[in-house]
Amino acid sequence: MSMFELEGLTKRFGGLTAVDDLSFTVDRGEIVGLIGPNGSGKSTVFNCTMGRYSVTDGSIYFDGEEITDDDTHEVVERGLSRVSQESNPIDAMTVAANIKLFTLPNSVRTMRGGGDEETIFEYAARVDIEDKLHEEPGSLPHADVRRLEIAKALATEPEMLLLDEPFAGMNQQEIDELVTKFETFRDEGMTMIVVDHNMGGLMRLVDRVVVIHNGVKIAEGDPDEIAENETVRNAYLGSSEAM
Ligand code: ADP
Ligand code: MG
Repeated sequence: MSMFELEGLTKRFGGLTAVDDLSFTVDRGEIVGLIGPNGSGKSTVFNCTMGRYSVTDGSIYFDGEEITDDDTHEVVERGLSRVSQESNPIDAMTVAANIKLFTLPNSVRTMRGGGDEETIFEYAARVDIEDKLHEEPGSLPHADVRRLEIAKALATEPEMLLLDEPFAGMNQQEIDELVTKFETFRDEGMTMIVVDHNMGGLMRLVDRVVVIHNGVKIAEGDPDEIAENETVRNAYLGSSEAM
């Protein structure tokens, strides 16, 4: 059985179908890239999965259980965590305090993680911001704020990470460093879906790619196959973005 499964996921906003009968699976330990031009429905897939948006139709399964329309806290307790496209640290608190907020007090998962200073240091160290723990997020460069968002997601001790545009706004060196981090996470057994509006940062990282356009899955395959895929090229030709 797959670790994660979407079965006919559909999300409508009034007359707009943002995600249209979308199905795919992710196996344990796999890294799947979910790509598509802006507005394709990528973030909506994550918002539905994390209980931020109600589902119009279809089902979502995680670790053998249906999680469709579970609330965010329940989903996180089960072991799923998401890094949003937009960073939202609390600027009036230190980096350490921001991470601590996500350690889920009184949670089953906290028994494995915990909000003590040592574990917070470890979460930060996993993304190389352990020397910034006493700074405020507003004083950090963009790439460090994004790393903080990842550390916050790690603080819930997830088994699977949903990463929404993790490379956005980063330079090539920062992207390469982050790809290496994600490879380390994978080696440690983490399952991941990585969303990007293009394939650039993803090629090296992912085992498999799912491409959506206007909410519909238009292709699925290994990165080399997808790079050559005519339907995918045409979808990107119709948008202002590079593939
Ligand atoms: P992507 O992440 O691929 O750029 P999104 O999932 O953010 O795309 O958006 C897909 C479509 O759904 C877009 O047309 C967007 O405007 C619409 N959409 C997303 N969230 C909402 C919302 N809360 N209310 C109305 N429309 C939304
Ligand atoms: Mg998005």
